Amino acid sequence: MSIAMKPSATSEDINQVIRKVRSSGLRVDVSSGKFQTVIGIIGDEKKVDFDQIKSMPGVYDVLRIQVPYRLMSRTYIPKDVELEVDGIKIGADNPPVYMAGPCSIESYEQLHRIGKQVKGAGAHILRGGAYKPRTSVHSFQGLGLEGLRHLKNVGKDLDIPTVSEVRSEVDVETIAKYCDIIQIGARNMFNQDLIEAAAKQGKPILFKRNFSAQIDEYLSFAERIVASGNKKIMLCERGIMPLGGSFKSQTRFTLDLNAVPVLRKETPFPVIADPSHGTGRRDLILPMSRASIASGAHGLMIEVHDRPNEALSDANQSIEPALLARIIKSCDLVYKTINESDSPFSSDLNGNGTQGQHH
Ligand code: PEP
Ligand code: MN
Repeated sequence: MSIAMKPSATSEDINQVIRKVRSSGLRVDVSSGKFQTVIGIIGDEKKVDFDQIKSMPGVYDVLRIQVPYRLMSRTYIPKDVELEVDGIKIGADNPPVYMAGPCSIESYEQLHRIGKQVKGAGAHILRGGAYKPRTSVHSFQGLGLEGLRHLKNVGKDLDIPTVSEVRSEVDVETIAKYCDIIQIGARNMFNQDLIEAAAKQGKPILFKRNFSAQIDEYLSFAERIVASGNKKIMLCERGIMPLGGSFKSQTRFTLDLNAVPVLRKETPFPVIADPSHGTGRRDLILPMSRASIASGAHGLMIEVHDRPNEALSDANQSIEPALLARIIKSCDLVYKTINESDSPFSSDLNGNGTQGQHH
């Protein structure tokens, strides 16, 4: 539920409604638009007497938003959300943003070498994992805090913002100090304590979809970020499980590009695609990057290594900086062509009467 106030509602009217909701033990998210204020409800709605609220001064209507991700839905926030990280604009109609760097931070020198080259290739944000989610306890686990220190130093030395994954609640404060965007990885998409702890740091969150998550589930967990008071979310499609049974997939995961326009229709937040994890194959990064931008992604996350075969993690999907430069040029062209066509992304997604439609 959310409560739409009349354009004429006074701040006292609004505060009265907020107090009423809070007195029932619920929290609110106040969204003040140009013309009216909408009050989102966070918590168990059965505890609130909406009939009573409807008759309070200044209240226009009580809106029933059917989806579980109410605070993220286009019904609640109709306009595309634009984020800004260190002057870089992400989302809405802005040109694609490229996040690139090694899967794992291996040393200051390695990250500096790669960082310099990805920046030269046109990347806007440097990625690098310090706390790596690994299947095997016997493989490289990441440098941890030492890696984060390298990330912070390289980011500063090269003047490029950074993103890194947090795997555990105990590290959220540290991660927030050492990088500009906090990544929550696919394996932790369902980890509500980690999500809420990370969100409360107030930094932008790159929230990856789990490889087995339905879109509704994915957005329901993303909703926890907004409900924790953080609206700086980037969603990230990074590939889903290939079909099981006797079907033998040629790729590590299946980059679900259906998800990109679906997410853009359902929510106003920026959508990033990760063709590196989505394919697991170096030779597929270029075509799937182009396809991601063509499907409406606001940006890409790509794993790059200057000696891809020697990468300590995800070597098979790591590409060289020269290929990244080609990909960025090519994707910028794809974006430009579509954006200058008679049917740019935003008109297809927002302006044709489908806005706010839910099943
Ligand atoms: C990563 O970005 O290195 C990573 C581990 O991604 P994911 O959580 O999508 O597997
Ligand atoms: Mn990786």
